[in-house]
Amino acid sequence: MSEFNQPVSGNDLARFAGLQTFMRLPVAETAEGLDVGFVGIPMDIGTSWRSGTRFGPKQVRQESAMIRPYNIQTGAAPFDSLQCADLGDISINTFSLADSLAIIQRSYEALLEHPVIPMGLGGDHSMTLPILRAMAKKHGPLALVHVDAHADVNDEMFGERETHGTVFRRAYEEGLLVPSKVWQIGLRGTGYTAEDFTEAAGWGFNQRLASSLWHKPLDNLGKEIVESIGDHPCYFTYDIDSLDPSFAPGTGTPEIGGLTTPQAMQLIRGLRGLNIVGGDLVEVSPPYDPSGNTALVGANIMFEMLSILPGVKYR
Ligand code: MN
Ligand code: MN
Repeated sequence: MSEFNQPVSGNDLARFAGLQTFMRLPVAETAEGLDVGFVGIPMDIGTSWRSGTRFGPKQVRQESAMIRPYNIQTGAAPFDSLQCADLGDISINTFSLADSLAIIQRSYEALLEHPVIPMGLGGDHSMTLPILRAMAKKHGPLALVHVDAHADVNDEMFGERETHGTVFRRAYEEGLLVPSKVWQIGLRGTGYTAEDFTEAAGWGFNQRLASSLWHKPLDNLGKEIVESIGDHPCYFTYDIDSLDPSFAPGTGTPEIGGLTTPQAMQLIRGLRGLNIVGGDLVEVSPPYDPSGNTALVGANIMFEMLSILPGVKYR
């Protein structure tokens, strides 16, 4: 028997049976004793176009049932060295975005009283702002790896300053980030102006447009990011719309010309060595994902993220 929680094996209970937790891990009531806690944030009231991400955590958990515990290609064995569990869902207020963001921040502050790495299952991207507020309270200004089609640096949307499209401008203004250690990867699409991304580059954010990455392997990019960030506490936020809609159509604001799934895997694997203190996977929208493929991709992206966390044993 391992001293660490193990996902229920598909040879012990059929993969389509049982409770739906992330990777069939046990449920934990609190983060006490955990190295990694998966946290559902079922929310879509911060979105500007298609909704549906409120169903993201459920569907990602369901599709995660097929993932086996060992990463055969990289040798990562996260469950041999980290105590992992599913912490269930945060009880947001679906009638109030402002209240929901406050609830998320309080929930994370409580979690972070323990030395746990929280991994959020979203949920729309607005959830990342209160998470960063809680994380920065504990760790100070953070390095950030942000994989996304969008820079999410609008000033306001319909006069609202806290939406899924304004997160990283607020985080910058509030001093939650070290701008020179922020990396935004996969940016593309149309803009409100032709210079939508350039202001953030002026703050010091490092940006890689998707078009500069087309047809290229991304393992070297990961290494470049690791060298730039060093061992600074780093938050890793992965917006599923960074991927091309042919790989991940089930999302609220799809943009053509995105990353491929192999590129995403190369990028994440190349980030091994970062001092990741938290992460999330956002913007999976099951109502726009009739085949379940986007949630499947999202679940596997989360497993890749888990596989590079500090302390993971490699075989
Ligand atoms: Mn986003
Ligand atoms: Mn996006």
